[in-house]
Amino acid sequence: MMADKVDPHFKRIALIGLGLIGGSLGYAIKRAGLADTIVGFASTEATRDRAKALGFIDEATASVAEAVSDADLIVLCVPVGALAKVCVEMEPSLKAGAIVTDVGSVKNAVVRDAGPYIPDGVHFIPGHPIAGTEQSGPDAGFAELFDGRWCILTPVPGSDRAAVAKLAAFWEACGSKVDFMEPKHHDLVLAITSHLPHLIAYNIVGTADDMETVTEAEVIKYSAGGFRDFTRLAASDPTMWRDVCLNNKEAILEMLGRFSEDLSALQRSIRWGDGDALFNLFTRTRAVRRSIIDAGQDNPVPNFGRNPTHGAPEADES
Ligand code: NAP
Repeated sequence: MMADKVDPHFKRIALIGLGLIGGSLGYAIKRAGLADTIVGFASTEATRDRAKALGFIDEATASVAEAVSDADLIVLCVPVGALAKVCVEMEPSLKAGAIVTDVGSVKNAVVRDAGPYIPDGVHFIPGHPIAGTEQSGPDAGFAELFDGRWCILTPVPGSDRAAVAKLAAFWEACGSKVDFMEPKHHDLVLAITSHLPHLIAYNIVGTADDMETVTEAEVIKYSAGGFRDFTRLAASDPTMWRDVCLNNKEAILEMLGRFSEDLSALQRSIRWGDGDALFNLFTRTRAVRRSIIDAGQDNPVPNFGRNPTHGAPEADES
C-alpha cells in the first residue's frame, strides 16, 4: 500500500508509555512536525517529569483516560503484558474517528488483548517498529531510532483503508519503511529473527554465568571472542522479554524445536569430524550476513560499527 500523498499529521497524539520506544517516537514526531500536541502517559512521576524535561512530549498525565480523550492518534508503548489494563482505562474516553495503534513485539496477543476494548468508530491498527536497543526508559529514546527500519502494520479484518494509509504515512514520516502482515505471520517471522536470537543470548550468557571452571573475570576479559555480542542482546529489558515469551509461546516453541534439531546436527558434525558439513554451513550463514548488509539493515564497518570509545547505541530487531 502506498502512503504517498496522505497527510501524516495529527492534531493531538497520545503516547501511552514513555520509555525507549515512546520516547523515540516523541522525538521523531517532533523532528517531522507530525503533531500540534503530544501528550504522554506514564504511571511513574519520575518518568513523566523526565519526559517533559527532555522535551519529547508537550503535556504529561498520570491518567490514561485523560491522555486519550481528544487524541486523534493513540500509540500504546507499554510492555505487551500491560496492554489489557491500559485498554480498560482507555476505552470510555476514546474519541470517535481516533486511530489506536501499538508498538508491541508480538501481534496476535495484542489483537486478542486490546481488540475487545476498541469501540465501534475507533480504528484499531496494531503495529511493530522493527527497531530497538537494549536500553530502557525515557533517557534511552532518540529521534533516529526508526530511520531506515521496517515498521510492520497488522491491520485487523475491517480496518478502515484511509486510517491504515494515514498510519503508514505517519510511520514513513518518522523515518520507517512500512510493510503489512497478518498478525500470526508477524509472530512467526519475529520468532526466528528476534525472539529466538534473544533467547539464545539469554541462555548463553546464563550458561557462562553458571560456569565454575572459568572465572567471571576471564569471561569478561576475553568477551571480545564472541561472547560480548551476545551480552548486548542479553541485557534487554526483562519485563519486555518475559511478556514476549509468554505471548508468542507457540511460534517460539516451534523455532526452539527447529533450532535444537539443527544444533544436534552441528554437534554430530563436530563429533564425527565432518569438516565439509561445518564449512558448508558456515559459508551459507556468511552469505546471510552479506545479504543483511546489502539490504541496508546493518553496518558493514568491522566490529559491527561499534565505537569502543563512545559506545553509541546499536539498533536491533526487537
Ligand atoms: P521501556 O523503555 O521499559 O518503557 C516502558 C514504558 O511503559 C514506561 O513508560 C513504563 O512506565 C510503562 N509501563 C511499564 N509497565 C507498565 C504497566 N504495567 N502499566 C502502565 N505502564 C507501564 O520499554 P520499551 O522498550 O519502550 O518497550 C515498549 C514496547 O515496545 C513493548 O511492548 C515492546 O515489546 C515494544 N518494542 C520494544 C523494542 C525494544 O527494542 N525495546 C523494539 C520494538 C518494540 P514507567 O516509566 O512509569 O515505569
